[in-house]
Amino acid sequence: MPELLKNYLTGQWVEGTASGTPLIDPITGEQLVRIDATELDLEEGFNFARQTGGSSLRAMTYLERGKMLSDVLKVLKANRADYYDISTANSGTVKNDSAVDIEGGIFTLGHFARLGESLGDRKFLLDGEAVSLAKDAAFQSQHIMTPTHGLALFINAFNFPAWGLWEKAAPALLSGVPVIIKPASSTAWLTHRMVKDIVDAGILPIGALSIICGRPEGLLEQLKPFDVVSFTGSAETGATIRSHPTIAKNSIRVNIEADSINSAMLLPESDSSATDLFIKEVAREMTVKSGQKCTAIRRIFVPESHYESVASGISARLKRTLVGNPKNEEVRMGAVVNQSQLSSITEGLALLKTQARVIYDGAEHELLNDSDACCIAPTLLGVSDGDAANIIHDTEVFGPVATLIPYRDTSHAITLIRRGEGSLVTSLYGNNNAELAQLAVELGDCNGRIHIITPDVAAIHTGHGNVMPQSLHGGPGRAGGGEELGGLRALNFYHQRTALQASPDVLKNL
Ligand code: NAP
Repeated sequence: MPELLKNYLTGQWVEGTASGTPLIDPITGEQLVRIDATELDLEEGFNFARQTGGSSLRAMTYLERGKMLSDVLKVLKANRADYYDISTANSGTVKNDSAVDIEGGIFTLGHFARLGESLGDRKFLLDGEAVSLAKDAAFQSQHIMTPTHGLALFINAFNFPAWGLWEKAAPALLSGVPVIIKPASSTAWLTHRMVKDIVDAGILPIGALSIICGRPEGLLEQLKPFDVVSFTGSAETGATIRSHPTIAKNSIRVNIEADSINSAMLLPESDSSATDLFIKEVAREMTVKSGQKCTAIRRIFVPESHYESVASGISARLKRTLVGNPKNEEVRMGAVVNQSQLSSITEGLALLKTQARVIYDGAEHELLNDSDACCIAPTLLGVSDGDAANIIHDTEVFGPVATLIPYRDTSHAITLIRRGEGSLVTSLYGNNNAELAQLAVELGDCNGRIHIITPDVAAIHTGHGNVMPQSLHGGPGRAGGGEELGGLRALNFYHQRTALQASPDVLKNL
């Protein structure tokens, strides 16, 4: 039997009492490790994190916690080769796709370590300037931010076991808030290994970082006032968590990062260099991590006049993407995470095909499999009437699939993009700076991020789907209504904002 991974709670490694669920290599079907969270003492573990972990973290300053994150970073860098091996084995990803997760996590952690050092030797934050509440400024209001005395529970999605941990844990730990992470079961191994390396290194105060692998009974029932929950996953699970009675009763602050039908749009009258950039990025986004990215482009909007040329340009690129066993050096796109995701993609594709035609057929693609793997080649779909095809605007197929949609004019494109009902990201490609800026503002209310690409940024842009710690991540409406990252904005979620009303003589002591 493969090794049973222990959970880390109450400052101790503890096994569940059942035999556990195996985690599988999606290429070979091999059982890699097992996880189990049956009958853990969650109440004790949560209390320990709040009391022991929380008070130790809050005793430190932002500067000290920033330095602590820098030490965490060193440990992760030292063990990075093992993380790639685990990622290939458990997620079936090629090296470049593992890097999106692993290096993305390391980069994000480094960003928050530096931000912490910039915040200095203090234990709370000022929010803006003091403003006068009386005519002569003798009585003022100053807002401050203090770390919550609760814990942060993270419930994460399967597609980012490394980045998903650190993009949440870095701002939480920097804020002085202890973390309990529950990674998605299917890929929990990488998260577990990273947590284990950090615990073994003894860098964090005991109770500051805990991990539960599996789905224990009564997890959300443990939450108390001042705790926060950050969830990443499907809209359906997000809705279950948001409406959980304990969360409602205790007014638990919840951040939801859910699925999203993201768009890329080529503006009218774009020249060939903007069009080429657009084609390249769409094909890349469809294939990175086998399309298993919440930010991936699902809807591709082009002027009617560009439809055929963009269709053949994307198809030509997809054809060059060899798909199969990530251990094969020729392979550019590996597996999807498991059979259940493969079935869900196949079913979603069949649904989209009821309204869309196939432009480039992944099913005819040769797979470089060495075995019975969870691989699926990319498929480009197309519709001629984007208004009538409702399914393409509301179905997220979490795999290498996207749909090409023609638009008549800019206002038509805006109407169609809005039918995604709230997205994580839309990218705009073109040459007219003024038109791009105006369109970005018009689309602002239904997007968490707008990625604007002109030929002058071709060599330096960060990519449609890459989430940068400096920029906000999250989107309105169906995308979950959440906000993460965005530099220091990320710390807001873990702090209580309080208005102090007093004389300037009192406030100057802050
Ligand atoms: P999921 O099935 O919703 O699961 C997400 C997490 O929720 C997992 O850890 C899962 O645990 C847990 N969970 C499920 N039901 C629960 C319940 N009743 N109580 C407590 N926890 C529960 O999503 P997924 O399949 O892992 O991820 C794919 C989805 O995530 C896609 O739709 C994608 O768009 C979205 N996503 C969004 C973002 C973003 O930042 N917006 C990023 C990545 C992915 P188990 O694994 O143990 O079932």
